[in-house]
Amino acid sequence: MANRERVLITGAAGFLGSHLCDRFIAEGYHVIGMDNLITGDLRNIEHLFHLEQFEFYNHDVSKFVHVSGDLKYILHFASPASPIDYLKIPIQTLKVGSLGTHNLLGLAMAKKARILVASTSEVYGDPTVHPQTEDYWGNVNPVGPRGVYDEAKRFQEAMTMAYHTYHGLETRIVRIFNTYGPRMRLNDGRVLPAFMGQALRGEDLTVFGDGSQTRSFCYVADLVEGIYRLLKSDCVDPVNIGNPGEITIAQFVEEIIKLTGTDQKVVYKPLPLDDPKQRQPNISRAKSLLGWEPQVGREEGLRITWEYFKSLPKERLYEEAHHRDFQKD
Ligand code: UDP
Repeated sequence: MANRERVLITGAAGFLGSHLCDRFIAEGYHVIGMDNLITGDLRNIEHLFHLEQFEFYNHDVSKFVHVSGDLKYILHFASPASPIDYLKIPIQTLKVGSLGTHNLLGLAMAKKARILVASTSEVYGDPTVHPQTEDYWGNVNPVGPRGVYDEAKRFQEAMTMAYHTYHGLETRIVRIFNTYGPRMRLNDGRVLPAFMGQALRGEDLTVFGDGSQTRSFCYVADLVEGIYRLLKSDCVDPVNIGNPGEITIAQFVEEIIKLTGTDQKVVYKPLPLDDPKQRQPNISRAKSLLGWEPQVGREEGLRITWEYFKSLPKERLYEEAHHRDFQKD
């Protein structure tokens, strides 16, 4: 058996985690995937189970994490990641970003591994600086519906930086902006699967608010490339990874209507509390330090994603966004 370097990926059965598993296996690593499957889905990594360079543990990283053997890298991607999830499982969201991060930092110390943690554009909250640069400190409501995610991720960054400065641990922090692509969870409330699911089920497309809020959508392969480069770099400060192509949600729904050919109408629903009005990454740091910028335009990325959703068995369109049974602690 080849003597492969070993990497632990938490949230391995999730949208981003599963793509990272694929990438690290393709790069010749032995991948240890971990997920408690509250929002993750084993169907995202089913194709890896027959590989000897992949193993999987069903474990909640908010509890003590043990992995035997060496680890070269840890990538911490376990977390609920949609506003609907934060409402349903707020305490788990807080715990995985805080306690989970602490456990993994401890594991990284024990293994002398380099750790990369998944942070988010949500650390900027409803930003008053536009586009968002890494030195902007954000505008977050700690007690609003998104606070459980935003503050856990802000704590995660602080904790990670403290382990770097106090213990000399090798750490990396990626601030991920809205990302899309195959394996996004249908029916988790995020705007792209919402619109594509509605088009496939023949339902009206729901725009929240008047649709004037903006987002900047990055295709998943670009994100994975940025994360891979950041991990290998010597950049300890947080780095934005996202696609600066900004559009309003009103424009976005029109693009989806055109792509899917749906003849359903657009209906307007109330804007959720604390929904950020604008969001666009400034990616100068990623460009200069990692030589990274996105390669996949929205037209191409949306087409690939639409093909994926169309290829799913019909019954999946009607599945509830599942949350595996979990203890409410
Ligand atoms: N949104 C929408 N219709 C939906 C779901 C979301 O108009 O069915 C809006 C939502 O209010 C937000 C944007 O789309 O302004 C992106 O929402 P998402 O939950 O995907 O991500 P986030 O708000 O965390 O960026």
